[in-house]
This record gives sequence, structure tokens and C-alpha cells, in this order.
Amino acid sequence: MATIAETSIAAHPRFEPVIGLEVHVQLLTATKIFCSCATKFGVPPNTNVCPVCLGMPGALPVLNKKAVEFATLAAMALNCRINETSIFARKNYFYPDLPKGYQISQYDKPLAEFGYIQVPAEGGKSKKVGITRVHLEEDAGKSLHEGFPDSDEKTAIDLNRTGVPLIEIVSEPDISTPEEAYEYLTRLKEIILYTGVSDCNMEEGSLRCDANVSVRPRGQKKLGTKTEIKNVNSFRFIRDALEYEIGRQIGVIESGGTITQETRLYNADQGKTYGMRSKEQAHDYRYFPEPDLLPLVVDEAWKAEIARSLPELPEARRARMVKEYGITEYDAQVLTVAKTLADQFEEAARAAKNPKRVANLVQSELMGRLKAKGMEIERSPISMRGVAASADLVEAGTISGKMLKDLYDLCFERGRDFTAVYEEEGRPQQSTDTSALEKMIDEVVAANPKQLEQYRAGKKTMLGFFVGQVMKASKGQASPQIVNELLGKKLGE
Ligand SMILES: [Zn+2]
Repeated sequence: MATIAETSIAAHPRFEPVIGLEVHVQLLTATKIFCSCATKFGVPPNTNVCPVCLGMPGALPVLNKKAVEFATLAAMALNCRINETSIFARKNYFYPDLPKGYQISQYDKPLAEFGYIQVPAEGGKSKKVGITRVHLEEDAGKSLHEGFPDSDEKTAIDLNRTGVPLIEIVSEPDISTPEEAYEYLTRLKEIILYTGVSDCNMEEGSLRCDANVSVRPRGQKKLGTKTEIKNVNSFRFIRDALEYEIGRQIGVIESGGTITQETRLYNADQGKTYGMRSKEQAHDYRYFPEPDLLPLVVDEAWKAEIARSLPELPEARRARMVKEYGITEYDAQVLTVAKTLADQFEEAARAAKNPKRVANLVQSELMGRLKAKGMEIERSPISMRGVAASADLVEAGTISGKMLKDLYDLCFERGRDFTAVYEEEGRPQQSTDTSALEKMIDEVVAANPKQLEQYRAGKKTMLGFFVGQVMKASKGQASPQIVNELLGKKLGE
């Protein structure tokens, strides 16, 4: 596979794309940011509302402490500097889903700044993508343009979402390819999920992304005119939309045209972006400090308290797991896609007699079968606990590697966990039939006089050779522990 940079330069030898991303993440607080209405998704329209989030005259906002803690935690996980004082500001604009006529956001004094995310880049290296700022704001309501009998002439409004706490995460224009944008978003989501401040559910709109993109001749410092791609609901579509948009912009420039600064929408069915509104008359939001809220102060003591709930983050966890369990980067990546999965793996590995064997089994036996079946690890019939149980059985010599493979195959056939299949198949009763094994051992020893001589001459490692030969003769069905015992006796004669 070509590296990211190779594909990018090969795709556009003369032009360099410049991409910046704005991500909105809904915070998982129980109540809204400035009132006590519930944030629950999927309830009947306009039921989670009150005078504050409806923007009634005279209603006063009260800041949700949990929202501040969640936002601060996320910003810390994104390596940001937390500003001790930040200011809420009114962003004035009219839209039907914004009953107040302004959104309470943060403007020139955001909660956090100067962060970064490490993303994979050219030649297997990684690259820092800067995060300009993380600020707190309230979500707007939702306009419903379809689904009603009179939808062809009317738009319905649901204000349940109005006032749900959001963080906006703005990246620096450090991203050079659609693939990097995809990686950035994947890492960002993973980090946020690890902190537990959002479910990042894109279908329900808890994570939304807008992309700014421009192109410039390679080597030129000055940025080209950018367009903004809005309302794309999957990371894959963002990558595709950027791919298309970069190609379109280069086409326009190469044919002597100029890029118009505008907002564009992506049509996933056609794989194209379309101009939505020109930004020539850019909005003037007339920001000013929100007079009904005090400056937000997150002092050192509070910061320290929030920092205590910062979990080990995916990047650090992967590095530690590679070291601790001797697994590959790739497997560490797969095992850490979800925090719960990584937790299960580590719990199982630590409970097992030999953690590294658990990791090995995951890597060699589990991943291979999952891949062959095109299954995600979350859907594996064998749980991490099952892998640990099987590892212990091999470790104790109760089952051989061959038996383990057969049992794993059965697990996948039956869609059942290891322990269940192991019980169903009946625990192996090898100890009752040692006579057959002794016969095999006699044959193996007789067939290898040279090795026997070496063993008798003091080369005790030859024992391993004989164990291997007997295991082979038994087609892997014998218990290595018992073979070891019997061979020891036989050779010790
Ligand atoms: Zn409310």
C-alpha cells in the first residue's frame, strides 16, 4: 500500500491541498447547558423545553457545571492549554431553530487553546495536527423539512436540542490529504470516547463535522481561497467529499477560473459537492460578551480535580500494550478501538497465568479467524475471558495447540464462547489412556537413535525434540504435559 504522502502527491503533483476541520461534539450531561431541561435524544418533539432554552424574554441562563467539567476534560485529552478565564459571548444571527436570535458561544476568549492530535502520516511516521481551540456553546434546535403530510409547503421545528451542551473543536489547517482528515477524525473520536464525555454517535448528531479546504501550488506560502463543506454525516463521506472538492478546485484553477468562497454540500449518492450559499457577504455575527453570564473561571484546584478523571488515552495505551504484551502495533490498534474492549482484554490477560500467551492467542488464533469471516472483534464468538481460559489450559498442558485450534474452529462454527464449547466437547480424558502414548513414545525413541545418544550424552534440550515428535505422532491430540512426564520417565531409564 502506498503511504499517505505518496498517494497525495501522485494524485495532485502540482497542487497542495490545505484542510482544516471543525468538529461539534454534544456532551453527555443529563441536562442542558443553561437550564435544567433533559438532553435525552428521541423523545417527542418540543417536550424538553423551558423558558430559558426557548429564549423567552427575561429568562436567565445558569451554567451547567458538569458541562464545563466535560469540556475541560476533553480539552485536556486533546493536549490543550486550559484558559483560567473564558468568556461566553452572543453570536447573533436569525434562524428559525434559534428562538433567541443568538447563540451563546465563546469567541475571543475560549475555554482552551493550543492542543494537538497525533495522526499517522507519510512513511509510517506520525504527525501533529494542531488544535486551535476548544470552546463551549449551546446547540440550536432542529428544522424538520420532511416526514409530515404538509412537508412540501411547511417546515417543522423541534427545539428539544436547543441548549444541549456542545464543544467545538477547531483544528489548525495542518491537514494535507483527505486520508489525513479521516485519520484525524478517527483519532479525535477515539479520544473523546475514551474520556466518556460524549457518545460521538454521528447518526444521532452527537458528533458533526465541517471541513474547510483550499488548494495552492506546491511550494507557495499564501493560502488559496477556501470552501466549506457542511453537514456530512460520516468520516468516509468527509474523505470522499474532500477528495472530490480538491479535484474540483484544481480543475477550476487549471482551466483559468477562480475559486469562490462558499459553503458547499456533499451529495453522497453522486459523490459530488454543490454550492449552497456564497460567503461573499460573510456573516457579521456581532459578537459581544453575554451580559447574563459571569466570566467562566476554571482555577488550578478545579483543573487538578478534573485532571484526576483523565483516563489513559488510546495512544499511550497502545504503546504500553505493545511493550507489556509483545503484540504488534496493528493488534494494539484493533484492541483499543473501543475502551471496553481494551479493558476486557487487559482484565483477561492479567487474570490469566501468562498474559503474553493471551495476547498471542488473540493475535494468532482470534484475529485470523475474525479476518477470514470479515467480522469485527466486537462480534467475536470467543470473548476475551474465553481466550484467557483457553490460554490457561494450554499453559497447564491440559490441551495441545492443535486441540485449541480445533476448539476455536468449533466456537466460530457454533457461534459460542470457548468455555461453553470446551464443556460441550467434554474435557479431554487423556490420562486414562497412557498405554497408547507409551507405545508412540517407544516408537519415536526407537526411530531416533542419534538424538537419543545426544540426550544420554547430556544434551537435555533433546527432550523438546522428542516431545515434538510424539505430539506430531499423536496428531496434536496428546497432552504435552503428560507426554513430557512419560518421556521423562522413559528417557530417565
Ligand atoms: Zn430548558
